[in-house]
Amino acid sequence: MTEPDLASRCGICGLDAAPVLLQQCFRCSTRFHLNPTNRAGIDCGDAVLGSVPGMEFGVEYYCTPCIGALNDEIVEATAAQARLDAVERRPGWRA
Ligand SMILES: [Zn+2]
Ligand SMILES: [Zn+2]
Repeated sequence: MTEPDLASRCGICGLDAAPVLLQQCFRCSTRFHLNPTNRAGIDCGDAVLGSVPGMEFGVEYYCTPCIGALNDEIVEATAAQARLDAVERRPGWRA
């Protein structure tokens, strides 16, 4: 389980990058530029504070396309939950 210690390439912008500057997306496993300190540099994704129990630091990394997709999923899940709530509030549904 050793990562190759060679220059690698960002799967988002396609530019070469030192492996230390790349992070693997938790969702699609693409390696992308992550600039955790927000200093000048390329940023092709973001670190998201997760709430997964037992995960060290609880930080998850997502590339920019996945952040957009995750936001869409959250919007859809929220809408679906709202529909469920409406059904469950019907009188007699849980009789
Ligand atoms: Zn990049
Ligand atoms: Zn991704």
